Amino acid sequence: MQKTVAHQKTAPDMASIAESIIASQSTGIIYLDGDGRIALINARAEAMLHTSAGDVTGKRVDMLPLRTPVYRVLSENCREMPVEVSVNGAVLTARSAEVRIPSGELSGEIYELFDVTEEKKEKRHREEIVAMMTHDLKSPLTVLMGYVQALRNEDGAKVHVSLLPCLDEMDRSSLKLLAMIEDVLDAYRLEVGLLQTTCSWCDLSAILEACCHDMAREASSRGVRLTHDIESGIPAMNVDGNQLSRVFANLIGNAVKFTPRKGQVTVNAWLGDEKLHVSVTDTGIGIPQKDLPRIFNKYFRSKGANGFRGTGLGLTISKAIVEAHGGAIAVESAVGEGSCFTIVIPCSAA
Ligand code: ADP
Repeated sequence: MQKTVAHQKTAPDMASIAESIIASQSTGIIYLDGDGRIALINARAEAMLHTSAGDVTGKRVDMLPLRTPVYRVLSENCREMPVEVSVNGAVLTARSAEVRIPSGELSGEIYELFDVTEEKKEKRHREEIVAMMTHDLKSPLTVLMGYVQALRNEDGAKVHVSLLPCLDEMDRSSLKLLAMIEDVLDAYRLEVGLLQTTCSWCDLSAILEACCHDMAREASSRGVRLTHDIESGIPAMNVDGNQLSRVFANLIGNAVKFTPRKGQVTVNAWLGDEKLHVSVTDTGIGIPQKDLPRIFNKYFRSKGANGFRGTGLGLTISKAIVEAHGGAIAVESAVGEGSCFTIVIPCSAA
């Protein structure tokens, strides 16, 4: 009698299922084991990083040749926030996370890679269009501002005295509009690496004093007390006075804007450690702790800022300008109590 053999399919184990899932992902995936060795790299990551599993598997990151894309990506700290890396004309974002086994023990680290080249191109294209349109807004605005100035300079015979406050308001509003246009253009310049500083020897205490003076009218119209204390003896510094003036105006402007009536804004400037320190402290609405890490990001505005005019670009641009001078900007804040922004610029800033 012929024996019939029942063929039973053996079910694949979980490890090989997991491996197949990872292999078929459309994102690049690399898994480092507890010793920091590449234990697994899927086909997508191989293609993105121009490498092969055979060349890198089993190697610790510090054993990989420097400057190779795989070394560059794996040596980035992208746990807290995704990091962008350019690889042969492509733009990748990488983010990593710890992998723990169910008992809670650390088993390794997983890196996920996304190709964002196309999104980046589209975003750049959109920004170019916005920059072009914004730039075009400047010409008609400059014409309007010219006429307002001309009318303000007319003698009383031609412009009725009752219209002068309207002209003043038109002048102030046009300046605000121009500042917003400049912010949008600078954000674009920053993105494409065109935000430049032109340095010359400047008296920064005089520039800061002038900014406080300019903002005093705005502060008093909002019922906010603005005081300043600028240490004497601050030497001339080789800086971009116009750009730093915008930083001061932005910080003081924000402090005034986000401080309710009867509040106080205090501007201090002093020398320490061969650096100029400027702080702008207010008793305003404050910024939630969770928002502080994002406060200098482009277009970021805290929920508390809803209802206040603004673009969310001022701090991004201020940070870029301060850093272009080798300086730093920092913020401390508590909701309902107020904020303190501090900038530090080396006196030898070039
Ligand atoms: P904008 O003021 O145009 O919104 P900024 O880049 O200057 O843009 O500021 C970004 C955000 O930071 C603001 O929208 C607000 O949420 C917060 N912020 C900045 N300065 C202050 C301040 N002095 N008090 C409270 N919030 C502030």
